[in-house]
Amino acid sequence: MGAERPTTIRRLDVTALRIEWGDGLCVAVPLDVLRQHCPCAYCKGEQVFGTTVMLPLQQFAPGMNELVALEPVGNYGIRARWADGHDTGIYTWQMLRTIAESVARDDTSVAR
Ligand SMILES: [Zn+2]
Repeated sequence: MGAERPTTIRRLDVTALRIEWGDGLCVAVPLDVLRQHCPCAYCKGEQVFGTTVMLPLQQFAPGMNELVALEPVGNYGIRARWADGHDTGIYTWQMLRTIAESVARDDTSVAR
């Protein structure tokens, strides 16, 4: 089940992206939440037989929650380029949707 591609992704302000889908879901996703969900092996740890083996704890780096650019990757997702130079995380549409839905659940102030 592939997730829908968002219809709109734009910066809300320096700390959040506003992501909108055709079915009406529209969520302000904080960039620090997006960064926390960075799917790359370095941030996520490696998946070994379904268990996540964590790599050494991420340290806070200046600019790590500052987004420099979002680049489309094929037709299945976007690559986030962060101000600390990290750019190996590719967020699939499915992941963005999952992150947005969890943000929407946790935050009652999210605009719909
Ligand atoms: Zn990462």
